[in-house]
Amino acid sequence: MGQVDGEIAIITGAGSGIGRACALVLAREGAAIMATDIDDEGLRVTERLVTDAGGRIITAHQDVTDESMWEAIFSQTENAFGTPSVLVNNAGIAIAGAITDFTLDDWRKQMSVNVDSVFLGTRAAMRYMGSKGGSIVNISSVAGLRGAAGASAYCTSKGAVRLFSKAAAVECAQMGTGIRVNSVHPGIIDTPMVASILGMFDGDDMAERLTPMKRPGTPEEIAYGCLYLGSDEASYCNGTILTIDGGTTARQ
Ligand code: NAD
Repeated sequence: MGQVDGEIAIITGAGSGIGRACALVLAREGAAIMATDIDDEGLRVTERLVTDAGGRIITAHQDVTDESMWEAIFSQTENAFGTPSVLVNNAGIAIAGAITDFTLDDWRKQMSVNVDSVFLGTRAAMRYMGSKGGSIVNISSVAGLRGAAGASAYCTSKGAVRLFSKAAAVECAQMGTGIRVNSVHPGIIDTPMVASILGMFDGDDMAERLTPMKRPGTPEEIAYGCLYLGSDEASYCNGTILTIDGGTTARQ
């Protein structure tokens, strides 16, 4: 019996990195998966990997900033598998740059993809899950716990995800919905996103310098945290910050 047998999980940004790992791990543990992304080719790869491993998956093209698409994603999932019970708000981007050089357009884009999406997804999940309960897992970052030079917009967006998750957790509990909302805070994880950021900072050895464990994490190491929060084993976790960072934030 899998850890999330019978669960129905929507995972955004599932065409790459952490989102793809979440799709694979949750499917392996019994969940039916709706994987969404703007990257259709990436989604096809994820779909094949999950199917080859014997998992159940459907995919949909979704821009997480588009309010009108959220309803369609939930209803498509419901038609295919039943009422969604897990949402992993994972899709995100990182726009680096000094504050003095940063444009308002880039600032708004950063907030739109990383923060608006989490609000829209959480709202849709609360409406769909209703009183049936469920688990919303919002992917924040260690950058949502502390500052980093050249990453003010990203840090702001991930800090917002952290506090939004806590506010939603309290609201869901007070409404008696049975929906839990938690945030996951990865450190440096070996994905295409981090490869581009490390390139900007000219720091291939950045993970080694910044991480007490002296290595980047793997996408699967984040997916296992999402698996736990999506499962009944996490039934008393609400508004929790789950940091998975090789000890990075343990050191000041
Ligand atoms: P990634 O670039 O490998 O994957 C992100 C996915 O999101 C891509 O498939 C991309 O197409 C998708 N995406 C981007 N904009 C989208 C949009 N508007 N609508 C739908 N999909 C969109 O990156 P990743 O490292 O796997 O990042 C996943 C999440 O983890 C992000 O929220 C990121 O901020 C967070 N995170 C990553 C790290 C890291 O070190 N990799 C650390 C902390 C937090």
